[in-house]
Amino acid sequence: MANHVQVKNGIENSRQFFNLKEMSHIVKVLDQNQKVHSDILQAIGNTPLVKLTNIPKQEGIKCDMYAKCEFLNPGGSVKDRIANRMIVDAEKKGLLVAGKSVIIEPTSGNTGIGLALAAAVRGYRCIIVLPEKMSDEKVNTLIALGAEIIRTPTEAAWDSPDSNIMVARRLAKEIPDAVLLDQYNNPCNPLAHYDGTAEEILWSLDDDIDMVVIGAGTSGTISGIGHKIKERCPKCIVVGVDPYGSILAQPEDLNKTDVQIYEVEGIGYDFLPNVLDRTVIDKWIKTEDKASLNMARRLIKEEGLLCGGSSGSAMWGAIQAAKTLKEGQKCVVLLPDNIRNYMTKFISDQWMEVRDFKPTVKRNLQWWENPLRKDIVQPIQTIQHTSTPAEALSMLRKSNAPVLAIVDDKGCITGVFTADNARKRIANLMGSTAEPLQNFSIKKYYKVDVADKPTLGLISRILDIAPFIVVTQSDLLHNEKPLGVVTADDLLLGITAGQANGN
Ligand code: PMP
Repeated sequence: MANHVQVKNGIENSRQFFNLKEMSHIVKVLDQNQKVHSDILQAIGNTPLVKLTNIPKQEGIKCDMYAKCEFLNPGGSVKDRIANRMIVDAEKKGLLVAGKSVIIEPTSGNTGIGLALAAAVRGYRCIIVLPEKMSDEKVNTLIALGAEIIRTPTEAAWDSPDSNIMVARRLAKEIPDAVLLDQYNNPCNPLAHYDGTAEEILWSLDDDIDMVVIGAGTSGTISGIGHKIKERCPKCIVVGVDPYGSILAQPEDLNKTDVQIYEVEGIGYDFLPNVLDRTVIDKWIKTEDKASLNMARRLIKEEGLLCGGSSGSAMWGAIQAAKTLKEGQKCVVLLPDNIRNYMTKFISDQWMEVRDFKPTVKRNLQWWENPLRKDIVQPIQTIQHTSTPAEALSMLRKSNAPVLAIVDDKGCITGVFTADNARKRIANLMGSTAEPLQNFSIKKYYKVDVADKPTLGLISRILDIAPFIVVTQSDLLHNEKPLGVVTADDLLLGITAGQANGN
């Protein structure tokens, strides 16, 4: 019935719905994709290639730049491709049997998500071993997909028994029917990109590409794409992006001990994986956290691409490398994962400000720019690293403090102890008070060094995202001594007292 009349609660409603049929229509041409996918794994790949409009213009880039939006894969990253490919290959070889085999893998998270996704669909138990550095968002996604998680210390060298790689290898031997697909050595890693990602990029630009810029982790993406591109478009320059603190770009520096921890996740390593083929990489660009993460924020804000931190590294590298290209030439930059993984990390302004990746926000408050005062900092109790968790708990109770600083023989802080973390470990069956105190030590906590003269504004911004801040003092040899702790209560008291004194 056209222009029907709705009757509700006895009241006549004569509102007419829009005449959709007669309106001006924008219907996209339906693409070549299958009409229906038999499961979500069939939707992996065929990601869009999108022309970048704003950032290249602002940066004075003459060539055309395109983003390969790998963050639009079903699991949110480029690694869905290799996860599925490794599983399909292992099934074909009879190494994996659905309902029986246990998939176990050391990863920085995204391969884990790809494997957990495929494991959920294809019916496998899946255990993922990943370093502490990787975001809780990745961990929660993995848990939601039904994977079991084991965290390892970020600072563990790849060949130390505590590293995610070594823990996974050990578990693969201990757990019956465990299969380690091993993305660092498995040819299906580069092959997935040789067959898939590279073919798509070449198809999108009719085999005419002047540069591709790709971040390197396991380096399967860059090696696989590099090989196919060199075959089909030999003029194309392949640029690898590697963070400072990693040795992928400079194997000659293997003996140098400049391996350091950086925030961008998923790229860089302290060893050369077998799936890295340096012969197809023409140029390397080294990247830093600050520039990378700010560029990731720009990709989101200025291009509308909801990508992750390593996408920022790749884009920053692409801007440097593409300066050599002329008008009409084409540069493709690969954006590996999506914003979901980093909601509480670089997507948070406070998180960026604490690390000095962004200036502290300005507030029109009298006290905002004032330096942290002694009276706002409460003393912090210290406990020797050789003590027991039971001793730490009793000390915490007596002092009524929010946190204890765990110190080494020199009195330098090695971590902190909180009742909440102790509860979490015990309640989640991750440990017991019979363990060494070191196992209860939190390494990821917020701190400010008095030498940096933190403002009350910065303190307030950190307290937006953390329950306490440890105040430290470092000497020239980077020996870091704990001086005190600040909570929301301390700051509030301090600023209201300051106002009463007219400060
Ligand atoms: N970026 C992110 C966010 C990743 O998770 C990975 C995978 N480690 C990469 C880039 C690099 O990919 P690849 O391992 O193929 O070098």
